[in-house]
Amino acid sequence: MAIATNLGFPRIGAQRELKRAVEKFWSGKISEAELHNVCRELRETNWKRQQQAGIAHIPSNDFSLYDQVLDTAALVGAIPRRFDWSGDEVDLATYFAMARGGKGGQSVTASTEGVAALEMTKWFDTNYHYLVPEFEVDQQFQLASRKPIEEYLEAKALGIETRPVLLGPVSFLLLGKTWEADIDPLSLLDALPPVYAEVLAELAAAGAEWVQIDEPCLVLDLTESHQAAFQRAYDRLSINGNQLKIVLATYFGDLKENLSTAVSLPVDALHIDLVRAPEQLEEVLAQLPEELSLSLGVVDGRNIWKNDVSRSISLVETVVERLGTDRVLIGPSCSLLHTPVDLSLESALDPEIRQWLAYAQQKLEEINLITRAINGGRKSVAAELAWYDEKMAARRNSERVHRTEVKERCAGVTEEMLRRQSPYQQRQTIQTHELQLPLFPTTTIGSFPQTDEIRKARAAFKKGELKEAAYEEFLKHCIASDIRCQEEIGLDVLVHGEAERNDMVEYFGEQLEGFIATQHGWVQSYGSRCVKPPVIFGDVQRREPMTVKWTAYAQSCTGKLMKGMLTGPVTILQWSFVRDDQPRSVTCQQIGLAIRDEVLDLEASGIRVIQIDEPAIREGLPLRKSDWDAYLQWAVDCFRVASAGVEDETQIHTHMCYSEFNDIIEAIGALDADVISIETSRSNMELLDAFVQYHYPNEIGPGVYDIHSPRVPTVESIEYLLEKALEVLLPRQLWVNPDCGLKTRKWEEVRPSLENMVTAAQQLRARW
Ligand code: GLN
Ligand code: ZN
Repeated sequence: MAIATNLGFPRIGAQRELKRAVEKFWSGKISEAELHNVCRELRETNWKRQQQAGIAHIPSNDFSLYDQVLDTAALVGAIPRRFDWSGDEVDLATYFAMARGGKGGQSVTASTEGVAALEMTKWFDTNYHYLVPEFEVDQQFQLASRKPIEEYLEAKALGIETRPVLLGPVSFLLLGKTWEADIDPLSLLDALPPVYAEVLAELAAAGAEWVQIDEPCLVLDLTESHQAAFQRAYDRLSINGNQLKIVLATYFGDLKENLSTAVSLPVDALHIDLVRAPEQLEEVLAQLPEELSLSLGVVDGRNIWKNDVSRSISLVETVVERLGTDRVLIGPSCSLLHTPVDLSLESALDPEIRQWLAYAQQKLEEINLITRAINGGRKSVAAELAWYDEKMAARRNSERVHRTEVKERCAGVTEEMLRRQSPYQQRQTIQTHELQLPLFPTTTIGSFPQTDEIRKARAAFKKGELKEAAYEEFLKHCIASDIRCQEEIGLDVLVHGEAERNDMVEYFGEQLEGFIATQHGWVQSYGSRCVKPPVIFGDVQRREPMTVKWTAYAQSCTGKLMKGMLTGPVTILQWSFVRDDQPRSVTCQQIGLAIRDEVLDLEASGIRVIQIDEPAIREGLPLRKSDWDAYLQWAVDCFRVASAGVEDETQIHTHMCYSEFNDIIEAIGALDADVISIETSRSNMELLDAFVQYHYPNEIGPGVYDIHSPRVPTVESIEYLLEKALEVLLPRQLWVNPDCGLKTRKWEEVRPSLENMVTAAQQLRARW
């Protein structure tokens, strides 16, 4: 019999109960015991959902108060010295101090100033962020948390047999960092397997039959020594008598040259992602040793589309022909952590589109259905299959998905449309003349503080409590006052402040055809932070201008230059749930064309500086280096199709944050934006090196005001950074701006900071 499995369930709760409880605990409103109660209830609900959905291998220890990598650090006692850890079991205060900063051992409600949190970074190419473990040179490991065992027993007490999930030792080390840059985290490997072996022995003693060990790093480019590390680690993990069966889980990509390593490890089953990398199946089957079972990830754990169940069944059937049913497990491509919880809550969603979707709960049902079809034959589930087939056909043939005019327009994109009229050198001369900007022009990145008043008005408008006319008046008032303030500060290129935007992607998603917003499509981004990405369901086009009204009004309030503010196609794509029925590049080009229309309308309305934000270009990079060029090619083209339609006189800006530029600098150059602003203030201008080595010719605004901190930068500190930038940039290249938008800051900080920034620019001008 094939086994229905799951690799992980979203822990935030259908109503984001975890977020609420954790935040209440942080602010001292509930006790630790109350927090644990909420968590226990969430786990119970999730386990029961899975049990009722017929999942045989139900995960435990997939729950986390903050992050599963942090849980692993706690499990093995990888607690950096600065947290003053006692060496006993890791307590909640230390755990949250590692997540959020603050002093280990102190109450978590105490100030988060002082001891720095672990760094946070993206989990592979998802929008989930994990905490980066830190290792010291002489790092010791010890069992310092009993969470996997406790949660296994907790489920068992409810009568539910689970398969505990652990992040594997090699991926755990590879995802971490050592303080001494030249020390390879894998040099610590020998100390780690004994701790894992202890956990496995305890789980076996508690009665567990299976354990799931995640090694997602197996889909990355690995060196030979990394591959050898897997062998070494897993040889040491095999415990006496093999009472515990291990499923080794890989996901997010193709095993490729790591396959031979994966199949040689002493485990009982291998999980592969057949949604992201269906092409690996043949090779896996060819190399799979007889004693290994295969777990087939056929239901997309990263997206919200209904599964093409008939197709999945066919795929599983081809495997069953080779392996028989007893060696086959059926599951999601990866943990369902990256999908929202339950579609049945979406009562207000457009019913036509709703029938094409599946959230985590529905995905469990799909896994169950596929498994029943395999074990009992298709006939036994004929009615259900017909229902799915009908939904699939409806989506495939829907006029709302396929728009001839969009497809024709995409087919008609020419090389010329991707190119500005003149090369940059000529544009610069023209723009200098036209825009009459001073040397070292000052500007901001777009948003101004989103005050309570702004948030309340927007919420009231969305609920229908505030009439459209009144809301518009309110926004105009905000824009006018932001502009007055910028004029008083003395900035050169002004912005309208983005008061009408909740989020830089959602705002455009709400207005573009082919997008739909959900009410309950929340997924965890990090810790208690959740995001609700829009869904791109169909061909994208613009219905009508999206920002022109506000920008034009803003321009009418001032004689200074007003910068139009748009989100770029790659960022919109990256931060949405995307279609799975066409390549990402195609969807992105459609968005690019829609943004192009907006750019041209802004230009026609008299806006002469237009910024197209692309903070997500880097995060879209594929996991394998060999796939980078193809991605960068289309990503750059999409930005260019969006931006290149304007006259030479019009100045195109772009903005990127949290970026490392060295390995993508050529692509950044190829964007050919007249001006790029980047986040640099914390890196002491070091990020500029990439631009310098590449001889980047266009203009650059390296951030000189760290907007992540409430601290007001002094004139001297800004001048220092600008001088530093001038060591490597030409004066004509240098813009003066903050690191990023100011929406999370308060006016009391923003105003003096920008005043200091303008003063610093003026003093610099006086010297040049
Ligand atoms: N224009 C946006 C803002 O200022 C940019 C945000 C971002 O880069 N993430 O808020
Ligand atoms: Zn930014």
